[in-house]
Amino acid sequence: MDHTKFVLEASEAELMAQSLGLSSVLQLLPILIQPAKNNARPPISNFHVSAVGLGSDGRVFLGVNLEFPGLPLHHTVHAEQFLLLNLAVHNCPSLVAFAVSAAPCGHCRQFLQELRNSSTLQIHITSLSNNNPHDMTFKPLAELLPYPFGPFDLLDDETPLLLEHHNNGLSLGLTRSQKLETVREKNSDHGYLSNGFSKETEKEYSHVTFAALEAANESHAPYSGCPSGVALVDSDGKVYKGSYVESAAYNPSLGPVQAALVAFVAMGGGEYEKIVAAALVEKEKAKVRQDDTARLLLNLVSPNCDIKVFHCIVAEN
Ligand SMILES: [Zn+2]
Repeated sequence: MDHTKFVLEASEAELMAQSLGLSSVLQLLPILIQPAKNNARPPISNFHVSAVGLGSDGRVFLGVNLEFPGLPLHHTVHAEQFLLLNLAVHNCPSLVAFAVSAAPCGHCRQFLQELRNSSTLQIHITSLSNNNPHDMTFKPLAELLPYPFGPFDLLDDETPLLLEHHNNGLSLGLTRSQKLETVREKNSDHGYLSNGFSKETEKEYSHVTFAALEAANESHAPYSGCPSGVALVDSDGKVYKGSYVESAAYNPSLGPVQAALVAFVAMGGGEYEKIVAAALVEKEKAKVRQDDTARLLLNLVSPNCDIKVFHCIVAEN
């Protein structure tokens, strides 16, 4: 398997399973664990973790762990989180099963609760099967995490869960304070917008900002009501977006920069230093704000990255 490939098309996965004499794509998942580990980026622990999952549309997705030296450990992205975000990036509506190289930590067992099918999600742990290719034991998440606390304790049945369609109804219309500022601007043609950027900069940023707004609209933040999204641009002009994902238990939540970095890695973005610009979209004065943390992480992984923050409003009906 190509080391840099994070998605296998359904037909490709079928062919690969057949050529290995396997009866199903499910059996392929544990076999892909070892080569997938090469994509992990754990410069602190050097503990490479990989997760390989089967989507409901037949595609196969990879997840690996990402660590960021110079920051507290809670910025780490676990392989299972990467896997879920990789499905989100590629619009796959549901995860059926996955194999993982080491037993999922408690944090990930909790994070996985955000899926509608969490209790029946099938998991195979390769380290427990001693890499025996004939051991294809998958266990439901409910067995790995009995007595779960999750979305069903806090949300109604109508609220979309992770990987389900979200539209948070956000737009980049002017906030109240920006409207006041705009009135003042009309009297002084200094070429700057209310958020402090020149009109030229605003134009250059428009497609990036729009991508960040899209990500914020797709953000899974039902617990705080503070969705956010980030878009990254690399030196080739390619855009990668990531949506903030909350957990019912709060702490395993994943920030929008981490989510965008998953998209960057999964789409073959290469070294983080290639990221030259970023836009964050979130609500003004939100109870949960990403601004400072986003800058902290981005400044560390790509010191020359130009970061802009845009405040959104909930569109009026
Ligand atoms: Zn974990």
